[in-house]
Amino acid sequence: MSDTAQIIDGKAIAKQIRDELAVEVVEFIQNNSVVPCLAAVLVGDDPASEVYVRAKRKACDHVGIDSQLHRLPADTTQDELLELVAKLNKDNAVHGILVQLPLPAGLDADQVLLAVSPAKDVDAFHPTNVGRLVQGKPRFLPCTPHGVMQLLKRTGIDTAGKDAVVVGRSDIVGKPLAVLLAARGADATVTVCHSRTKDLAAHTRAADILIAAIGKPDFITGDMIKPGAVVIDVGVNRTEGGLVGDVEFDSAAQVASHITPVPGGVGPMTIAMLLVNTLRAAQALEQ
Ligand code: NAP
Repeated sequence: MSDTAQIIDGKAIAKQIRDELAVEVVEFIQNNSVVPCLAAVLVGDDPASEVYVRAKRKACDHVGIDSQLHRLPADTTQDELLELVAKLNKDNAVHGILVQLPLPAGLDADQVLLAVSPAKDVDAFHPTNVGRLVQGKPRFLPCTPHGVMQLLKRTGIDTAGKDAVVVGRSDIVGKPLAVLLAARGADATVTVCHSRTKDLAAHTRAADILIAAIGKPDFITGDMIKPGAVVIDVGVNRTEGGLVGDVEFDSAAQVASHITPVPGGVGPMTIAMLLVNTLRAAQALEQ
């Protein structure tokens, strides 16, 4: 349709959200004499995790949220990690807890995420919070899916009655995003595709809104996209040529009406929504 899709500028929209949040944080501090605080737990020395945690702490700083970093060595035992989580659960100065994944081999991430108090679970990974989301009564919205919904909303893209196709069914992105898109208020008709989907391109070509959360560089090509579709690329893939998404940007941008770039699309939104959840946690805990 269009020969150049409109770029959805995630960096700019995330900044807008952080600016709005900074005002709310000041108000919260004035009313409660308490500074919202996010505690990050980083186990081992995975370089990508180091980068993510640093970016999250920097973002906290920008909006006036305190952050703590709890660093544990790669040979930490499950019990030691659970002990730290229990301590943070009890610490009244901490409102949000973030356990950076992946954990080193040998540690059971599911058990650790289950140990985080649902009231401080700002990643919204605890089964209680996932269940609440599915039932339409969320406490926190999961950061990346919420970031995608905000990108659509703030770009003026109405999801009601649209055919949305989510490629990927992970617990972190695909599944919760499908729930949010299909929820009352968003009202999209959602198809979830995965590695066993028969004729993936037939599904993606039927999408008014196509979301790629696969983890395979340049996997979705322009010929798999319906002319005029909105394309959201969640993928972050490190290649020799740098960071690329799951969507082959150049061919997709020839067909789509709107598209997110990588980097600068969904990534900055994920961090912004984590900050939003940290303030919401503080508001609920300090009530
Ligand atoms: P994941 O857990 O590996 O899930 C990937 C999904 O893609 C799975 O459901 C898988 O299907 C599906 N898939 C794999 N190959 C496929 C194929 N050939 N055809 C159709 N579906 C296929 O990954 P994730 O955690 O959801 O992350 C997805 C991507 O998003 C990654 O690049 C990740 O780095 C990125 N990400 C970005 C952010 C951000 O803030 N921007 C946040 C989180 C993740 P099966 O279930 O059948 O295996």
